[in-house]
Amino acid sequence: MMAEVYIGLGSNLENPAEQIRRARVVIAKQANISEINFSSLYSSPPMGPQDQPDYVNAVMSVGTDLFAIDILKVLQKIESDFGRVRKGQRWGARILDLDLLLYADQQINLPDLIVPHIGLSERAFVMYPLAEIAPGNLLVPGKKTIKQLLTNCSLDGLEKLA
Ligand code: AMP
Repeated sequence: MMAEVYIGLGSNLENPAEQIRRARVVIAKQANISEINFSSLYSSPPMGPQDQPDYVNAVMSVGTDLFAIDILKVLQKIESDFGRVRKGQRWGARILDLDLLLYADQQINLPDLIVPHIGLSERAFVMYPLAEIAPGNLLVPGKKTIKQLLTNCSLDGLEKLA
């Protein structure tokens, strides 16, 4: 069974836009994952600690027959291949952050995996790129449609990159 999956990409170190473009290619090359769509790149001020560079964010949709937990493992492997070191600081600077935003219409509550991704609907750097590539009537499980959620989501300094 093919599932449509949305992945959030973020970086704020070592030429972030380039990291996002590279990550897109690596994700699309994975076995059992094929790219459907990719948003524009956006820049956003950091969440949490402010003494770090702005982020570049994007959202990608893919088709896959992998289980959600296996996609998470693939994404975590890619993060570590990109040299991300988990230093324990929440919301600290990172070369690459990959989040599993939506997995078909599923709600998942496992110790290591919560889908829809926590905070998805409040975060401009997720919602705006997501709305660019997802149908407006797509339902975020347990919440509302993308279009409805977007009307309550302020830009918070988000800017689309040229
Ligand atoms: P972060 O530091 O933001 O990359 O958070 C990573 C942690 O969030 C990992 O321990 C994951 O197991 C957990 N996590 C829970 N749900 C998700 C999700 N939907 N996508 C990515 N990571 C998740």
